[in-house]
Amino acid sequence: MNRFRLVVHPFFMHHISQPCKQCGRAVKGRTDKQFCNDGCRNQYHNLRNSCQNNYMRQVNHLLQKNRRILAAHFGGSTKKKTIAQQQLADQGFQFRYCTHETKTDNGAARFCYEYGYLPLEGDVLLILHQPSVESTIFAG
Ligand SMILES: [Zn+2]
Repeated sequence: MNRFRLVVHPFFMHHISQPCKQCGRAVKGRTDKQFCNDGCRNQYHNLRNSCQNNYMRQVNHLLQKNRRILAAHFGGSTKKKTIAQQQLADQGFQFRYCTHETKTDNGAARFCYEYGYLPLEGDVLLILHQPSVESTIFAG
């Protein structure tokens, strides 16, 4: 019985090996090998990571755009740093995306990095600037 298995085993192993997860070619060698070589393994993992990275890239892009819009209003020449919510929306501001919230005496302020907004009455927003992560909020 043992002799029989010794003869058959290599043949058996060779034929039940899975196709390479990357290129689909037969994988030679051990049956638990998933890829035909390091190149295929790296390519497979790079592609998988790029899907995750692509999501992060899109979110980062949205956050940076939001930040840019807020920064432009905060740094503008008008002394009043209030703006209509609709005006931000018209400029492509995505209200669903922010980096963090901070509680203020007047409600929750939402930030995109160091620039944020605090809803006032109606659809008016007060643009805020938070110069460093630990500091308190300075309203424009
Ligand atoms: Zn391969």
